[in-house]
Amino acid sequence: MLPRKQEKKESALETRLRHLFALQKVDLGLNELEEMKGDLPFTVKKLQESLDSKLLTKAEVEHMVQQTIVARDATDVEILTLKERIEKYKGQQFQVKTNKQYDALTREIELSQVRIMKLQVEMEALEGKMTVARNDAEQLVPEIAELETELAERRKELNAVTKEHEEEETKLQHEREKIVARISKADYQMYERIRKAKDGRAVVPVKRNSCGGCFNRVPPQKILELRKNDMLMTCERCGRILVSDEIVENSSAAE
Ligand SMILES: [Zn+2]
Repeated sequence: MLPRKQEKKESALETRLRHLFALQKVDLGLNELEEMKGDLPFTVKKLQESLDSKLLTKAEVEHMVQQTIVARDATDVEILTLKERIEKYKGQQFQVKTNKQYDALTREIELSQVRIMKLQVEMEALEGKMTVARNDAEQLVPEIAELETELAERRKELNAVTKEHEEEETKLQHEREKIVARISKADYQMYERIRKAKDGRAVVPVKRNSCGGCFNRVPPQKILELRKNDMLMTCERCGRILVSDEIVENSSAAE
């Protein structure tokens, strides 16, 4: 590490700005690495979401099939019970003594037959529902398989790109941690707030008398003040933190 050129002792503000600018450089580097991944992180996320949703639908449909089977079986048992009861009533009709008793049994038999017909209609409806649900579940199988294949492929691509730049990314992350440790919480929060709102660039140099972020002209008086490095300056238009050439140079030398 080369000793930094310093004619005068660095002011507290200069140190703050130098650290913030260094952090900005690291973050731009990390952004660049992220951009190399292109749409892949987003694609992988979307595919995973579609897959999860289809798996959930399939589970729901299968659960419905199970419930329908239970309902159908219960209906089946009820029909059999009613049929047995009818047989019993028919047997009793041979043993009764009065017409009144006979008619009462006939009435019971008729009621049971009506109930059986109603249950048979219900059973058909349940069978129909089950067939539809089974078809739905079956249709989901190839769709899920296709999604799984595509997700695996995209994830493989993303891993390859990530691995390619892993070393550089780790180095930058490590550097970032070191810089963040030297910055006050308030400064870091301010930096992150502007960075998130302003397209990843919170700290910009003044280039050709203009803001390096939005290219708005910086008044000469402000440039003079900026060079003194005794006040934190922001661009009047975009609100980004402005740094002087001196900070930019020192920041490079400090690496
Ligand atoms: Zn600006």
